[in-house]
Amino acid sequence: MLALNLSPDVFALVYLVATVFFILGLKGLSSPRTALKGNRNAMIGMLLAVLATLVHPDVQDYTWILAGLGLGAVVGIAVALRIQMTAMPQLVAALHSFVGLAAVFIAAGTFYGHSASGQEMDTAILIEIAAGSFIGAITFTGSLVAFGKLQELLSSNPLVFKGQHWLNLLLGVAMLGFAAQFAITLDPLPFWIMTGIALLLGFLLVLPIGGADMPVVVSMLNSYSGWAAAATGFTLNNHLLITTGALVGSSGAILSYIMCKAMNRSIVSVILGGFGGEASAQAAAGPAKGIKSASVEDAAFMLENSGKVIIVPGYGMAVAQAQHAMKELVHTLGKKGVEVKFAIHPVAGRMPGHMNVLLAESDIPYDIVFEMEDINSDFSGCDVALVVGANDVVNPAAKTDKSSPLYGMPILDAYKAKQVFVIKRSMKAGYAGVDNALFYHDNCSLVFGDAKAVCENLVKTFEAS
Ligand code: NDP
Repeated sequence: MLALNLSPDVFALVYLVATVFFILGLKGLSSPRTALKGNRNAMIGMLLAVLATLVHPDVQDYTWILAGLGLGAVVGIAVALRIQMTAMPQLVAALHSFVGLAAVFIAAGTFYGHSASGQEMDTAILIEIAAGSFIGAITFTGSLVAFGKLQELLSSNPLVFKGQHWLNLLLGVAMLGFAAQFAITLDPLPFWIMTGIALLLGFLLVLPIGGADMPVVVSMLNSYSGWAAAATGFTLNNHLLITTGALVGSSGAILSYIMCKAMNRSIVSVILGGFGGEASAQAAAGPAKGIKSASVEDAAFMLENSGKVIIVPGYGMAVAQAQHAMKELVHTLGKKGVEVKFAIHPVAGRMPGHMNVLLAESDIPYDIVFEMEDINSDFSGCDVALVVGANDVVNPAAKTDKSSPLYGMPILDAYKAKQVFVIKRSMKAGYAGVDNALFYHDNCSLVFGDAKAVCENLVKTFEAS
């Protein structure tokens, strides 16, 4: 038995120190420069939290804990070794679903445990049990749908039907009604009906979300998983779980707000599900009429004779792992006296900060990497916008086409550059599944190929010239 018979104040103090480390972790993650330190701080906090919990006198038996740790470690290590960077968002969605499911189990376990031992349950604990279960259930199925959409097991098109919002509202009210009945009567039946409705609501809230709006949903589910953990903390009377859950819940909510602002969506609509869902996603483009393609040599010629170049990286850069080749490209252009900047859209790639992480990985200097609002006005004064594996984030249809699922989302104004080169492999659409109006602009040419190979060939062409 590892349990230490220390005063509860010692545990409270260690939990407090762990919470401070979590806060320092979050603070560090707010900038790529400090992200590594932030991660280290969060890991120290988690180590303290796990160790303190393991030696807590409430822990009477290690069998299940060790079994869970062993199984979790085997699955975790296997997944971590195999997962591609581009598949991180669906992994995060899957992990959120586990948090949700755990919250349901803990709520049910606490209820049945208290009932079996004849412990009295006051209204407060019953409300905590109900809240833990329904928030967890919504998070569980909502995250499963998000996983399915991100993994492309489910269509990324919004699934909408008439009266959907009214049905969600009705289900929400019924769920709260059964929660109240459970808290008053202590009857397990309304508890399970409430949980069943919450499971259904999770599906219904995320199914109507269209592809381009998934980033907001992922961060919203992140927030829900935090609140589910906080509710679990109340149920288990564990202060650390409450503070950690609240940190995850509120930082996820802030991130959702930032994403909503970036995508010009209403946060209320996100919570209610199905915003922008009425717009029909167009089919991926077939053979394109009126597009121009350019060779690597054409693009190289224009690039090296430019004064200012703005590079727009997107999901394709991550797929191709083109960031190191791009660093070479920037370096070579710099030697030729060309000023190069990067423009980052808040939802480029498949997770918040995806592009920043990759650019930081290849040591591209932070001072040439700009967020959308800081660089968008520069496009009209730049000679070449080089779009590397980005698509939706530069689609002008978001400004002009009311029927587009992207309509209303601010974009990077690459189309305003004197010349645009888009590096991609085919005419396939981006995540939102819509054709890109940019490709038909007179000043736009497509350089077909894998982003890494094209960037490497551009560098070779510069060096040969
Ligand atoms: P998109 O998904 O719009 O487009 C990516 C483009 O990259 C595709 O057109 C694809 O074309 C091209 N591509 C893929 N592989 C390669 C390769 N090896 N070499 C060259 N090109 C390649 O990406 P964006 O970054 O522009 O937009 C992100 C989208 O993802 C938005 O719709 C956003 O809402 C959504 N999203 C974002 C999340 C986030 O948190 N950032 C989370 C979930 C969704 P081709 O196949 O022809 O090469």
